[in-house]
Amino acid sequence: MSASSAAPAPFDDQNQSADIIIRSSDGVCFYVHKLIISQASPIFHDMFLIPQPVSGDDEGFTKRPMVDMIEESKIWDIILRICYPVPKPLVSCLHDIHAILEAARKYQIEVVSQEMRRTLLLPLVLERHPCRVYALACIYNLPDIAQAAARNTLHQPFLEDEAELPELVLMTGLQYHQLLQYRKKCQEVVATLTALGPFWTWAGCHIVGGPVFGFGAIPPCTQCTKGTSRVGAQKIPEFIKQYVRSAAKVLEDTPYGAAVCTRPVLEPAMTSASRCDKCREKSIGRILDIATTFAKQIDDRLNEIKFPVTRDVRPSGH
Ligand SMILES: [Zn+2]
Repeated sequence: MSASSAAPAPFDDQNQSADIIIRSSDGVCFYVHKLIISQASPIFHDMFLIPQPVSGDDEGFTKRPMVDMIEESKIWDIILRICYPVPKPLVSCLHDIHAILEAARKYQIEVVSQEMRRTLLLPLVLERHPCRVYALACIYNLPDIAQAAARNTLHQPFLEDEAELPELVLMTGLQYHQLLQYRKKCQEVVATLTALGPFWTWAGCHIVGGPVFGFGAIPPCTQCTKGTSRVGAQKIPEFIKQYVRSAAKVLEDTPYGAAVCTRPVLEPAMTSASRCDKCREKSIGRILDIATTFAKQIDDRLNEIKFPVTRDVRPSGH
């Protein structure tokens, strides 16, 4: 144990009304109130029913009962700020979130568990570390977060979001397998949308009563008919086919809606379309319309795929 020091305000030794000290593993003393801590944690509530040893006064601290914890001061600072009516800290480090979730489980501090569940869904955390969030959701039996995280893993080539995935070691083989199966299913569903038949159907070629935004709605350009081909009753310009090919390719690794609206996917088709000065403007507009509608189609289909959540059946403590 390193030499003790006082925690920053409002948990410092100036806090006269504090009636207990929580000392972290790195020797930081948090001057807190039994009443608040007991309300937050039934474990502490029960612990406080037993008299606690009083801290030694040789370091200049006021004598108060002291409880030694195994977690670091960084973790206790966050936990206490969540329990107290003070501004909540923003936590985005997955390592810290894991340590806080573990402490919250151990001491049954529901308000802290809740805050961490909310944190895991913040775009800053979820979108940046979907696989790690998925692993934590598995470890702590958080099915809604597991589903959201699994969906977000589609935004990146598989397991390429991190150099290291320290939480992965705590998942079961089944939970990992389920993530792989989910991804495979999403890839298959999305692949059916880029197959030319279905693509032209939703894109408006064969819809009774006329295209939605489609190819038939605008008469084909007379200047650049070269390269168009017929699909059903419609003439399809080559740049549209080019777009579908680019989209299909990017969807293999990242099967989600917004992936088909990115610049690298749109650019080759737009470059082709802009070669004709007669229809340039309309054609580029059509590509953008198609991309937006296509992205929505993809996301709608993905929304139908439910993630098979299995609760962690291992003994507690992992
Ligand atoms: Zn043209």
